[in-house]
Amino acid sequence: MAVWRSKDLLDGEAAGSLTIILRTRGCRWRRCTVCGYASEGGPATEEDLIAQFRAATRDLSSEDRVVKIYTSGSFLDPLEVPPPVRVQILDGLAAAGVEKLVVESRPEYVAIEAVEESVARIRTDFAMGLETSNDLVRDRSIAKGFSFEEFAAAARVVHDAGGSVKTYLLLKPPFLSEGAAIADALRSARDAIPFSDVLSLNLCNIQKGTPLERMWMLGDYRPPWLWSAVEVLRGVAGAPIICDPVAAGARRGPHNCGRCDEAFAKAIREHALTQDAGAFEGLECRCRSAWEKVVELEDLAFGAPLDADTRRL
Ligand code: SF4
Ligand SMILES: [Zn+2]
Repeated sequence: MAVWRSKDLLDGEAAGSLTIILRTRGCRWRRCTVCGYASEGGPATEEDLIAQFRAATRDLSSEDRVVKIYTSGSFLDPLEVPPPVRVQILDGLAAAGVEKLVVESRPEYVAIEAVEESVARIRTDFAMGLETSNDLVRDRSIAKGFSFEEFAAAARVVHDAGGSVKTYLLLKPPFLSEGAAIADALRSARDAIPFSDVLSLNLCNIQKGTPLERMWMLGDYRPPWLWSAVEVLRGVAGAPIICDPVAAGARRGPHNCGRCDEAFAKAIREHALTQDAGAFEGLECRCRSAWEKVVELEDLAFGAPLDADTRRL
């Protein structure tokens, strides 16, 4: 179990949030090429899950207006979080006066009863990892195992029951050039907006033990440029879009040239809380022209990253 505090967007303003990672048996799918969660998780009894939740919320305060409960899998999977445990958690948060809960689930576990159970107690965002609206990319590049239509059906269930949908999009799935990745994320945002209340752009990073890590080690993959992230965040209109640039500036994370990464990460975090594209004004660096060349030419380089720097491994 892990727990930390941060800020989140709540009704258009920054609000205190508490993130709780519950240690469950983990995701049942475990096949996504970019996901390191397959190695996480272990047997967890109902008593154990409740004990983790109690420990995580022991010092919950009125500052914690948003609570996010993640499991490295699906909160709505009844094998991961048995329904009686789920209800106890929901009751606990409602009694504590938490304003909003965010949970994650694969679409196949989004059942109307489970959504209603949650929404009846606390305003809830149901986050789903659509990653891309392109079924071919989701299937072949990420091995996600569900279709856009299945995501859309689950989103309708959530909305019919009075919940909200948070849709994760992945910037730069494997095998996409930098330019194709930007176009894919912009297109995916447009396609997902009718089904989503908020979009969350995840900048692909290299997690240990994944097929993506093997590609990266061979120089066949480079995490997205932060310039690309800004391009996507600026280009989306019609729904709030947030982004937490995890591992920004690290060789396994989204990065530019090293000199400007920190300023980009700061601007991206600021934009997530304000939705003001003004956060990106003034971002300039000499590496801009290198990024522009990569976007322009990478498609011609047989899909291989032009600037994969394997010497940095
Ligand atoms: S990305 Fe999500 S669905 Fe895919 S293996 Fe990881 S936890 Fe499971
Ligand atoms: Zn730079």
